[in-house]
Amino acid sequence: MLGKILTLFILCFSAPAMGFVVLIDPGHGGEEYGAVKTVRVKKGKKVVKEKVYEKDLALSLAKKVKNYLDPYYTTYLTRSFDRSVGLNERAEMADAVKADLFISIHFNSATNKSSHGFETYYLDNHADAAIKKVETVENKYLEGADKVVNHILIDLVIQKTVSASKKLAGKVHKRIKGSVQKKFNMKDRGIKPGLFYVLALSKRPGILVEAGFMSHHKEIWKLRRKDFLNRYAKSIAEGVKDYFKTKSQKDLPLF
Ligand SMILES: [Zn+2]
Repeated sequence: MLGKILTLFILCFSAPAMGFVVLIDPGHGGEEYGAVKTVRVKKGKKVVKEKVYEKDLALSLAKKVKNYLDPYYTTYLTRSFDRSVGLNERAEMADAVKADLFISIHFNSATNKSSHGFETYYLDNHADAAIKKVETVENKYLEGADKVVNHILIDLVIQKTVSASKKLAGKVHKRIKGSVQKKFNMKDRGIKPGLFYVLALSKRPGILVEAGFMSHHKEIWKLRRKDFLNRYAKSIAEGVKDYFKTKSQKDLPLF
């Protein structure tokens, strides 16, 4: 009896908040480093070279996003430590946990070393050359089965998710702009459409954040700061909450 009351109590007080499921996806992992930047740091009296990997920054930021969202929704990470995860595995996880949203976390890099700032992507096809470049970076790790991307499926996913994803991107980006941009004096590069396979395969409304340029000699130092990561993570979480506030109930599965 006591057990039943307890279960009822838990359901009553946790179920409404736990209705939505968010899958947070730290980009890359394992042998796939993503972007890499060598910095010089002081160790005692010596200055030594240190390599900063996108996969590590992405994991730190993703874990913080999860912590901020945990009290409100059921949240999962596609990886919680440094390991390689294929695109298909990430997508299968979205199905397994019945995710309502998919949030992929990345940091940018460019051959033009003066590029800097943050941008938020949602899945859409388009023909913009500048955006195509970013896609090449984030899609370059496609391997084996991952390479067989069904373009008919992608078109269908875009058709069914684009308005929700665009709305989510708007809410998240607005929060980042209001919080991170001012404090860290970063350039707002805007909300952009992009053909990221990880978003397409997840078959969910979702976004991919590029939280600053590792290749920029000044910006890299901001991205390594704990207060930067905390603020960015909190902004993503607040944006997700803003998005869910506009929904009165869960969507039916898209597929
Ligand atoms: Zn990346």
